[in-house]
Amino acid sequence: MTKTLFEKIIARELPATVVYEDDVVMAFRDINPQAPTHILIIPKKPIPRIAEAKPEDSQILGHLMLKAAEVAETLGLKKGGYRLVFNNGPDAGEAVPHLHCHILGGRHMNWPPG
Ligand code: 5GP
Repeated sequence: MTKTLFEKIIARELPATVVYEDDVVMAFRDINPQAPTHILIIPKKPIPRIAEAKPEDSQILGHLMLKAAEVAETLGLKKGGYRLVFNNGPDAGEAVPHLHCHILGGRHMNWPPG
């Protein structure tokens, strides 16, 4: 099976500015930032999207969420706040079929999102 873009980043076959990594997740800067701070945090396990996650992935997903908060705090976003986004499927604009959580912060954000 061909590797997704993010699997290539995990394997260090493509460069990325990594801000956090452990055995389960990796967080790196988005190449096309939509906010002053824009990080993607991904599981190392290639789960395509949240709709494809299985009950046995719950520990990975819980870890990913807690680490997202930790990364946001480390990058100075806790006080001002930040947004976590999972795009799932075509209507949401999902472009890379490897589950990823966007961490967006450093500016005020509108609601509803576009
Ligand atoms: P999606 O639209 O699937 O939710 O988000 C995919 C994200 O991956 C986009 O924000 C896009 O800018 C980012 N992205 C695409 N290619 C690369 C890449 O090669 N490196 C990094 N760091 N981010 C990428």
